[in-house]
Amino acid sequence: MIDLATAVALVERSARPLPPRRQRLLEACGRRLARGVVADCDSPPWDRAMMDGFAVRDADFARAGETVELDVAVDLAAGDVTGIAIRPGTCARIMTGAPMPPGAEAIVPVECAVDGTAAAHAGGRVRLADPRFRPGQHVGRRGAAFVRGQEVLAPGAALGAAEIGLAAEAGAAHVVVAPRVRVALVSTGSELVPCEAVPGHGQTRNSNGPMLAAAVTLLGAEPIPLGIAADKPEAIRAVVAQGLAADMLVLSGGVSAGDLDLVPGILARCGVEQVFHKVRLKPGKPVWFGTLARPEAAPPGLVFGLPGNPASSLVCFELFVRPAIMILAGASRERWHLPRERGVLGAAAKAAADRPVYLPCRLAHGPQGLVATPQPWTGSSDLLGLAGAEGLVALPADGRVHEAGEPVEILRRDAL
Ligand code: AMP
Ligand code: MG
Repeated sequence: MIDLATAVALVERSARPLPPRRQRLLEACGRRLARGVVADCDSPPWDRAMMDGFAVRDADFARAGETVELDVAVDLAAGDVTGIAIRPGTCARIMTGAPMPPGAEAIVPVECAVDGTAAAHAGGRVRLADPRFRPGQHVGRRGAAFVRGQEVLAPGAALGAAEIGLAAEAGAAHVVVAPRVRVALVSTGSELVPCEAVPGHGQTRNSNGPMLAAAVTLLGAEPIPLGIAADKPEAIRAVVAQGLAADMLVLSGGVSAGDLDLVPGILARCGVEQVFHKVRLKPGKPVWFGTLARPEAAPPGLVFGLPGNPASSLVCFELFVRPAIMILAGASRERWHLPRERGVLGAAAKAAADRPVYLPCRLAHGPQGLVATPQPWTGSSDLLGLAGAEGLVALPADGRVHEAGEPVEILRRDAL
């Protein structure tokens, strides 16, 4: 049995980033960039009208507050371009988004047209009174937001709606993003039935399958559910062979000390080399981890055997599988683990003597900082006590009762 910190370090050392993928922009939604996006154009791409009105020369509005009468030389809607220059005493009727005509320097909004001249078009005359006129007003200057050749999105940027829009504007029809890690999932146990079934006496619904698929999905990885394997060597061997084709294989159940805990032996026979089995941790002690060497320089396949009890399974997922997925996806180190924070206990909790305990808790902010109050929880098979938990509070292996107000370490669960 090894320490938790040693076990986590062994996982970190075994995991290697997968190559990034080039994808069509929209398919990259929700992913992180592996390579920055460099603009192929300026934004705005040219001096652009930012209001509907009249494109004028600053000099014609030199005396503030004065009403100015101008000839309308040309009409410009968005998409129109003109070679007609705006000379002193003239202007263009212009709509938002149109390029500024040569010679024009500012926009006077259409609301500033007086004496019924707001509808003046090319060939007509407009009278403009703009009490707040500033030279160059209401013009989006070429390159004011970004310029051609500028990196507008850095590696690591998460592609949400604004970032997808920006990449589109910058001309990135394809982007290079962190790969979706493919995680094969197998639930072992002859007692298991799918969640659609009504379990007979002695049967248990497979909650780990959907739970681990959800956990994988929430990390931006791709679950490959391989279903339930009975505790029979042939059954487990068949799904393991299938699962080893994925980037990672995560099994649940069958790694404890029972007669039918066949998983470690079968994995060994399939060429998976054990890195550790059993960690000083509660819940989650039976956890198993190994690697599968791949041909050439390919990163090794990673294989986790999580304990079958659902709460143990999820705690082990968060502590061991999460960092492995994040490393394979090329995430920066500060994103590998659940955020770790210091806080105080909101209620007394009993530590184990032989290994650290992780308890599901609610979080609140109090005068002493973050307050972690353990939820009612009956232990490693109790998912109700884990549901809704905002974090896991860690108690050291000192066997004593930790009182409310004592300092503790907290792992924060991600917000959805
Ligand atoms: P095991 O780790 O296989 O010894 O299983 C420990 C406990 O977890 C047993 O009570 C199993 O019935 C239960 N268990 C194992 N796998 C699952 C699963 N996929 N979903 C729900 N409970 C499970
Ligand atoms: Mg079992």
